[in-house]
Amino acid sequence: MEFEARFSTEELCRDYLFRIRWPEGFSCPRCSYEKVWPIGTTLFQCAKCRYRTSVIAGTIFQDTKKPLRLWFRAIWHLTSQKYGANALGMQRVLGLSSYHIGWTWLHKLRCAMVRPGRDRLSGTVEVDETYIGGEKPGKRGRGAAGKVLVVVMVELIEGKIGRIRLKRVPDASGPSLDGAVKESIGPGSIVHTDGWGGYGRLSEIGYAHEVIRKRAEVGQNLLPRVNRVVALLKRWLLGTYQGAVRPSHLDYYLDEFTFRFNRRRSRSRGKLFYRLVQQAVAIDPVLAKQIRGGTADF
Ligand SMILES: [Zn+2]
Repeated sequence: MEFEARFSTEELCRDYLFRIRWPEGFSCPRCSYEKVWPIGTTLFQCAKCRYRTSVIAGTIFQDTKKPLRLWFRAIWHLTSQKYGANALGMQRVLGLSSYHIGWTWLHKLRCAMVRPGRDRLSGTVEVDETYIGGEKPGKRGRGAAGKVLVVVMVELIEGKIGRIRLKRVPDASGPSLDGAVKESIGPGSIVHTDGWGGYGRLSEIGYAHEVIRKRAEVGQNLLPRVNRVVALLKRWLLGTYQGAVRPSHLDYYLDEFTFRFNRRRSRSRGKLFYRLVQQAVAIDPVLAKQIRGGTADF
């Protein structure tokens, strides 16, 4: 009820986005004047030179034909479900006319869950890989049919699990693993792995590499914290999506899981909501064609 009251009109939603986009106050990109007037529901006009700025241009809400109120409700729904939302639930709760809109919105919002320019993990990080999908364990270093290889990186804080990063890789080769680590872990960090040869160059590319287990088979005998995270990830995929995750969409689910996991101690749903709106305005518009298998109707 508090949510509905706070965002009961398009203007309230627009003003909320405005404050998130320009937290230090607005200044006209053309003349630097700081006073603007709202025009319609998404535009602002500079009070001096009349330059117009859209509050949704360059965000995931760009070009939307739907009210911001509906978007806000979608974000609230997504962030208030402990185990995540699915497209059918989204369609029902929002009263959307089609399943595909719910599906497309969910995928756009998942793109926003990866914070642009987010910090990399640091300190001590446990790194191992797992296969998602399929029944049998796969062979390392090779693609297995129907399976996707995911590098799981878990920050250790006083022996406990801190933040995580999940990164899908084409294979467990050195270049693939180096790329995943470089993208997700800050240089100078201590990286714990098993004895798989693909990790052999980590010390050359700026990490303190420690092999904490000599044996190496992918998807089995995972390092302990990675194992814990993988168990939660698989349970979550199974529980929320009944395992119905297409390999081509896995990245989105990995991002959603990471977003939720890294904020698992955040008690306030309102904070998650704020964070997701903030990230939704910080990323570039997500085009439907960028979402593989999606239909362009939103
Ligand atoms: Zn101006």
